[in-house]
Amino acid sequence: MNLEESVESIKGIGEKTAEALKNGGIKTVRDLFYYLPRSYENFQNLTKIADLKPGKVVIKGQIDNLNTHYGKNRRLAITEGIIKDDTASVRTVWFNQAYRAKQFQKGKTYLFSGNFELKYGRLQLTSPSATLYEEEADGLKNAIRPEKENLGFQPIYPAKLAIKPDQFKKFIKSAKPEIAKVPDLLPNYQKNIRAESLLKVHFPKNQKEAEDGRNYLAYEELFELILAARLNREENQKLKSEKLPFVAENTKKLISSLPFTLTPGQKRAAWDILKDLEKTVPMNRLLQGDVGSGKTVVAAIAAYQAIKAGAQVALLAPTSILASQHAESLDALLRPLGVNTALLIGATKNKSELKKHIKSGEVDLVIGTHAIITDDTEFKNLAFCIIDEQHRFGVIQRQKLLLKSKDGLAPHLLSMTATPIPRSLELTIFGDLEVSTIPELPKGRTPIVTKIIREIDQKEMLYPKVKAEIEKGRQVYWICKSIEDNPKEETVSVKKQAERLGKIFPKLKIDFLHGRMKPAEKDEKMLKFQNGKTDILVSTTVVEVGVNVPNATLMVIMDAEGFGLAQLHQLRGRVGRGQHQSFCFLVKSGEEPPSRRLRELEKSTSGFHLAEVDLKIRGPGEIYGSLQSGVLDLRIATFSDTNLIRAASRHVSDFLKDKNDSLENYPELSHAIKRYQQLTTLN
Ligand code: ADP
Ligand code: MG
Repeated sequence: MNLEESVESIKGIGEKTAEALKNGGIKTVRDLFYYLPRSYENFQNLTKIADLKPGKVVIKGQIDNLNTHYGKNRRLAITEGIIKDDTASVRTVWFNQAYRAKQFQKGKTYLFSGNFELKYGRLQLTSPSATLYEEEADGLKNAIRPEKENLGFQPIYPAKLAIKPDQFKKFIKSAKPEIAKVPDLLPNYQKNIRAESLLKVHFPKNQKEAEDGRNYLAYEELFELILAARLNREENQKLKSEKLPFVAENTKKLISSLPFTLTPGQKRAAWDILKDLEKTVPMNRLLQGDVGSGKTVVAAIAAYQAIKAGAQVALLAPTSILASQHAESLDALLRPLGVNTALLIGATKNKSELKKHIKSGEVDLVIGTHAIITDDTEFKNLAFCIIDEQHRFGVIQRQKLLLKSKDGLAPHLLSMTATPIPRSLELTIFGDLEVSTIPELPKGRTPIVTKIIREIDQKEMLYPKVKAEIEKGRQVYWICKSIEDNPKEETVSVKKQAERLGKIFPKLKIDFLHGRMKPAEKDEKMLKFQNGKTDILVSTTVVEVGVNVPNATLMVIMDAEGFGLAQLHQLRGRVGRGQHQSFCFLVKSGEEPPSRRLRELEKSTSGFHLAEVDLKIRGPGEIYGSLQSGVLDLRIATFSDTNLIRAASRHVSDFLKDKNDSLENYPELSHAIKRYQQLTTLN
C-alpha cells in the first residue's frame, strides 16, 4: 500500500466518504493513518446500572426518550435521555450537545462513560461520551472479555470531520490490515516499529500501548524536524560570506564611549558575535535576552566591527516607531566614531536620494522596517543583517533581505529576541541556529511591581497611584485593546479611555496613539512622550516592542485577559527602564478569578520563566507559530518531552555521521525533510 495514494484506495471508502474525508484534510492514506485519536476512553470496569455509585462510571445499554429543550435565555441546549440495561435505568444529560439527540440508533447498544452524580436532587449521568458497542468488532476482539465485561480501550478521534466518530472508527478498522503493512521510515531502527506503533495508537489494549505507540510516532516526527534543521545548518555552512575581522582597538573605543559598563552576558554575547563575523561562513545567530537586557548595544558593537571592515549593515525593526528609536540611539552612539547611519521607513522623505547614498555605499548602517526589503533598495556591500524582535519576521522576508547582499556572498545574520526560546525548541526547530543569551539585566534596575486589579477597583487602587507617579515627575502608559468603541467587543477603547482620563485628571496632559495613524503622526506623538510633554499616553499595543522611555514608570493594561503572556511581558517591559521603581497594573473586567497567565505575570518578571510557563499553557504553535508557520503544528510530538527530543537528536547525529548511508536511501523521509527545510531555513 502506497501511503501517497488517495484514501479511496482503502477498501470500504467510497467516493462520497472520500469527499467528506478530504474536506477534513484527509487526502492520502497517510493522512488517514496519521489521523490520531486525541485521547482514549477507558471502557474497562463496566458497571451495571443497578450498581452505580457516584463518580466516574462506564455503563453499557440502550438509550431512549431523547429530547432537547432550552434553558431560560435559550443559550443552553439541554439534551436528556434514559439509558437502560438489564438491571435498571438512569437519566443522562448533555449540555450544548444537541447533536446527541440524533446520534443514537434505535435498538443498538452503546457504551457510555461519564460522571454519575447528584444534581438538583436527582441522580444522573452527566455529559457522558458514547460509543457504539459492537461485540464482533475486530478492534475490540482481543480487548473484550465478555465474561468479565472488560471492554478495553476506545480511541476518541478529534471531532473535525463531517463523518461521525463511529463511522470513522469503522474505516480505520477496515484499513487495519493495510496499517499493519506500513513500511518503516527511519534509518537504523527497530523493524516494523512504525506499523506496530500505528496499530497501537488506533487499536490499543490499554493506556500503556496507546502511549508507546504515540511516543514512537512523536519520535519519528521529531527526528524529521531535527534532521531538517541540521541539514539546513550544513547547507548554511557551505555558503560563503565576507570576513569582517575583529580589531581590538576599534571595539575598545566604542565600548569606552558608553555611559555604562557592559554586563557579563552582554560581553559574552558580543564576543560570540564578533568571532562569528570573522569567519567566512555566514553567521546565523540568535541573541536572546529579556526586555531591557541591552541587546541593542551588543548589536551596535557588532555593526561597528562590520563597518570598520568596510561593509554595510542593515538593521530591521518590526515597527517604524522602534526603527526610529534605534536610528536615533545608534546614531548618537556611532556618529561620533565616524559612522553614517540612515533611517529608511515608509514615511522617510527624499527616499530616492537616500537610496542613492545606500547604493553608493555612503551610508554604513541602514535602519528601517520591512520597507528596506520589500522595495527596491540596493546596497553596495551588505555583509551583515540584524533583525530585531525576529519573531515578527517571516522566512520569506528574511530571504528577500539576504538576496540584497553582494554577489555570491551571503550576509551574516543576527536575530534578536526578547521572547526566549526554551531549550527543547533550541534543539529542534532552531537546531540550525547558534544561540547567545544575556541572562541578566543591567545592575541598578528594581524589578517592576505587578498587580492584578478589577476594573471596578480602579478608582481606589489605581487612580491615586497615577496621580502620585505623575506628581513625582514620572509618566504613564495606558494600553487598550481596541482603537474605538465597537459594539461587538466589550473592551475599553483607546478613544474612550483617553476621554475618561481627561475627565478624571483634567490637569494632566493626556495623549493617545494607535496603529491606524499616519507614521509621521505616530512618531510625533511618541517623540512628545519621550520628551516628557505627555503625562499619560493611551495607546494600543503599537508601543509594545522595544520602545524606550526610561522616565515612564507606570504601565496600565486594560482588559489584560485579552492579551497573551509574552505580549503582556513585552508591554510591561516598556517601564522599569530607568532607575525609578516601576509598576504594572493588569486591569481585568468581570468577576471571574484571574487566569493562570495573569497570576504568573504578577509573580515573575523573568521572561525566561514566563516563556516556559507559556509553552506549557499554550504550546509552541501559539507562541512561535507566526515565526515558522506550519512547522510547529506538530501533530504528535510535544516540546515538553525532552527525553524523546534528546534521543531523536542523537539518532540524527549518528545518521549524519554514517558515511555508508544517506538520505537518498529513504525517499519518504527525504520528502518530509524537504518540506520542513523550506519552513525552517533562515537563509
Ligand atoms: P532590549 O534588550 O530590550 O532591546 P535595550 O537595548 O533597549 O534593551 O536596552 C535597554 C536600556 O538599557 C537602554 O536604555 C540601554 O541604553 C540601557 N543599557 C544597555 N546596557 C546597559 C548596561 N550594561 N548598563 C546599564 N544600562 C544599559
Ligand atoms: Mg530591543
